[in-house]
Amino acid sequence: MNTDHAYIGLGSNVNNPHAQLTLAMANIASDEGIEVLACSHFYVTKPVGPVSQDNFMNAVIKIKTRYEPQALLTHLQTIEKQHGRHEKRIKWGPRPLDLDILLYEGQRVQEANLVIPHPELENRAFVLCPLADINEEMILPSGIKLKQKLKEIPMDGIIEVVEK
Ligand code: AMP
Repeated sequence: MNTDHAYIGLGSNVNNPHAQLTLAMANIASDEGIEVLACSHFYVTKPVGPVSQDNFMNAVIKIKTRYEPQALLTHLQTIEKQHGRHEKRIKWGPRPLDLDILLYEGQRVQEANLVIPHPELENRAFVLCPLADINEEMILPSGIKLKQKLKEIPMDGIIEVVEK
């Protein structure tokens, strides 16, 4: 079986976010085409955007998968729906589960429904901090060291780091 490594960002701010993330990881790991290799700490973070809503919980996992990027996205969207996420929700609004493909084995994808590396990856402390838990020495797609980037971006959105 051909496998590639990828990093997935997880987020939730509805219906017990800690339980949503834990269950989502179990759901992802239960697929025979995916192996979860590493998991970050969980981060309590401030919501981004104009909608007033509860804090989020965010984490990142590293996986090994035989799914190509589009098939992986379809699979992750099925899991989002299982967690009660609906298509017609408010943009930037509350969500029981958000799964983003952050990076996929050095691949760049630029399609209508899928962009990899994730366009907001390098702007979001709630993604970069958990990413550093897994691979602190990572070089980001822009060529900047993750360690360096963490010194440059605002950390005020990170409220607390909690045990998994
Ligand atoms: P959001 O509501 O911000 O989570 O955006 C969901 C939409 O982003 C979905 O319709 C996906 O098709 C699209 N999308 C584009 N790039 C990615 C990516 N790298 N990972 C996950 N979803 C993506």
